[in-house]
Amino acid sequence: MVKRTKIFVAITAAVISTSSLIVRTAEILDRRVVIIVPAVADDRLSPTREALTFWNETLRELRLKTKLVEQALIVASADTRAYENYAQQLWRQAGRLSSEQPGPKAPRELLDIDGEIVVFLSKQRLMSFAWPVGKTQKYFVAIGTRPSDPQENPANIHNVIAHELGHALGLTHSRNPMALMCSPCRSFVIGSYEKRFLPLTAEDRSRLSELYR
Ligand SMILES: [Zn+2]
Repeated sequence: MVKRTKIFVAITAAVISTSSLIVRTAEILDRRVVIIVPAVADDRLSPTREALTFWNETLRELRLKTKLVEQALIVASADTRAYENYAQQLWRQAGRLSSEQPGPKAPRELLDIDGEIVVFLSKQRLMSFAWPVGKTQKYFVAIGTRPSDPQENPANIHNVIAHELGHALGLTHSRNPMALMCSPCRSFVIGSYEKRFLPLTAEDRSRLSELYR
């Protein structure tokens, strides 16, 4: 078996300059995002970054006091097995857990990550989800590979990732089947949403304003 090493490929300059601003009077201004990817060539990496840009543009438009900052990109983490196990446990219990319940125990490796949102690009065919990690401020966002699922087809993966990041920002599902936070989502199976992000609803916008104004 090939021994995998943890490689911090990129720690952006922005992180260095803003890290001291992250926590101010117990209010989180920036949400630091750590992306864990099996390989740097993974085709979900650029949609992940597009989704971060989408959210930052949206938050800026709404003049809100938060943004998503890419803190680190971890390629082929030595801790991949722990994250895959945790993702699988959560996925198996999907629908039977609510965010008020503790859920399966988060692995130490995840708790140790310095960042508020961990985007894990899983190698499993699980449906993507976002999960609040215990009593921490941390969200675990697992993005699976489900090429047979139209909702998660590669042309729409940027919307799937943006949807899960929306949960990590505090949004819940919308009954509007054409909105980004939809569930169920009719829009994902009709028409092409390639390169285009689905809209937020007025409720989403006011919820974000409540949370981050
Ligand atoms: Zn959702």
